[in-house]
Amino acid sequence: MVRHKDRADRATVEGVLDPRTRRILDRLMSNGYLHSMQGCISTGKEANVYHEEEEEELEVAIKIFKTSILVFKDREKYVMGDYRFRKGYSKNPRRMVSLWAEKEFRNLKRMYLAGVPCPRPLLFRSHVLIMEFLGEGGEAAPKLKDVKLDGQSWQESYRQTFLIMRLLFHDCKLVHGDLSEYNLVYVRRKVMVIDVGQSVGPDHPCSLEFLRKDAVNVRNFFSSKGIPVLPLRSFFELVVS
Ligand code: ADP
Ligand code: MN
Repeated sequence: MVRHKDRADRATVEGVLDPRTRRILDRLMSNGYLHSMQGCISTGKEANVYHEEEEEELEVAIKIFKTSILVFKDREKYVMGDYRFRKGYSKNPRRMVSLWAEKEFRNLKRMYLAGVPCPRPLLFRSHVLIMEFLGEGGEAAPKLKDVKLDGQSWQESYRQTFLIMRLLFHDCKLVHGDLSEYNLVYVRRKVMVIDVGQSVGPDHPCSLEFLRKDAVNVRNFFSSKGIPVLPLRSFFELVVS
């Protein structure tokens, strides 16, 4: 049922598509949520992301989380520290990986509803998350680390990223937790944020530590582009104030 672009794609697709995942995707297809899965956009440590083009205008990204033990250990602290998910904690890796997909889905939903520029979450089933595809003509939008801009546009992207951090903190009550030029993408001159599974609320014991790390990453990145940036302390304080 899964359609592939070519042989290379098929190998990557099948690399993660264990029978359970395949059943979930097949069910989504027979229910009409998906039509085909066209290409692998990214194979990461935590998840693989695929692109699919619907017959109509909607293009979706399909993020399939991995169940490997290593990743599992890493995620524990983000789940345990977050009161929304703590009670769902389980020693069962399958249960945990679907809790993680749910966490990313719910974080995305909160962000999207608050007007944070991010992909619109569509649905999740077990460890499979489906969201709006960011990009054009089947090409995923470039990460901020890969775009080439002039000084003025970097300045503007810096401003947009700062506003995203403030919106997240004040309106969504969330700290991204892995914010950097790798999880910010550039779509039609707009900075958008992705990869929000690890985002936590302000009550998480490490939330301010995560926010500080996010601020360091963002500030250093824009500083490396040669534009004037605020000193770290002011940057951090302006985000939280
Ligand atoms: P991870 O970093 O944990 O592997 P991400 O959510 O960052 O997972 O996704 C990996 C890559 O897949 C991103 O860097 C981006 O290139 C692509 N990607 C993720 N979500 C989307 C999306 N909604 N639209 C387009 N591309 C996406
Ligand atoms: Mn990422």
